[in-house]
Amino acid sequence: MTVSTDALYQELILEHNRKPRNFGEIPDADRVVEGRNPLCGDEVRLSVKLDGDRITDVKFVSPPGKGCAISKASASLMTAAVKGKPAADAEALFERFHKLVRGELSEEEQRALGSLRAFAGVSKFPMRVKCASLAWHALHSALAGGAAEVTTDDRAHGPPTTEGA
Ligand code: ZN
Repeated sequence: MTVSTDALYQELILEHNRKPRNFGEIPDADRVVEGRNPLCGDEVRLSVKLDGDRITDVKFVSPPGKGCAISKASASLMTAAVKGKPAADAEALFERFHKLVRGELSEEEQRALGSLRAFAGVSKFPMRVKCASLAWHALHSALAGGAAEVTTDDRAHGPPTTEGA
């Protein structure tokens, strides 16, 4: 069973890599953040349009050859998941996603994540965890009004707090 499920999720990731959703730039974006994952060479530029506390639009681009399939598919699925949502909901989703890719969620919690669950398999590949969470780190910085550049390098960027507010 898990084999076919894995295959299904792998197909979903490849499909989003081939045809990423929300790929492009928002000309009048409120926030633009460049995310870098030096370990893999992934780069993603995320632009976010906000209306008060709501994410009304979010898009990303990766320069050609600067985004592996996982980082691009993750950015694609992330933008689709948070578009139209309040910032607080997007942050809560980031926390759950981060636990997902570190293998810290139960089956039931994973199921609640819908298609984002496709990345559960990366928990077996520590290097890939950074690819999968790159776009989310960029989003986090954009929403927090933080740095315009983020890196998945642990020395520069600690793990997000998992404690409740
Ligand atoms: Zn990568």
